[in-house]
Amino acid sequence: MSPKKIVLKFPSGIVEKPLIYHLVKDYDLMINILKANVNPSKEGSMVLELSGDSPNYDQGLDFLRRQGVIVDYLSEGIVRNINKCTHCGACTSICPSGALYISRPSMEVIFEDDKCVICGVCLKTCPVKALEPSVNGGNGK
Ligand code: SF4
Ligand code: SF4
Repeated sequence: MSPKKIVLKFPSGIVEKPLIYHLVKDYDLMINILKANVNPSKEGSMVLELSGDSPNYDQGLDFLRRQGVIVDYLSEGIVRNINKCTHCGACTSICPSGALYISRPSMEVIFEDDKCVICGVCLKTCPVKALEPSVNGGNGK
């Protein structure tokens, strides 16, 4: 099965369990962690690419759900509506992957969607809502 991006949300109390280790060891899944926000004794979240053979893939996700983890698929991408964008640069300072950056000397804000890890932080930051989720995958520039 080709890699799929998923979001895991860990309620407090299970954040410290070695759940990712079990996905690899017990279900033979391959994991590429794109983003993690995990603090002991608090809720946590993780964005990762997960790949492996069926039925291991489904069984691994069922294992996570039985542990109390909320599993969401991240099939959408991010697009930028270039007609709305004012090139204010606000999104470039918070983008963790460098997908949004200021090109010099033009000072134009560039969006490279192949670098985007779909963390969603920019969606809340853009003052004119030029950045939007897309269910068909990102292709905005
Ligand atoms: S925050 Fe919005 S308007 Fe500002 S540069 Fe980014 S996409 Fe454009
Ligand atoms: S969702 Fe936005 S902030 Fe997050 S990596 Fe993609 S472009 Fe950057």
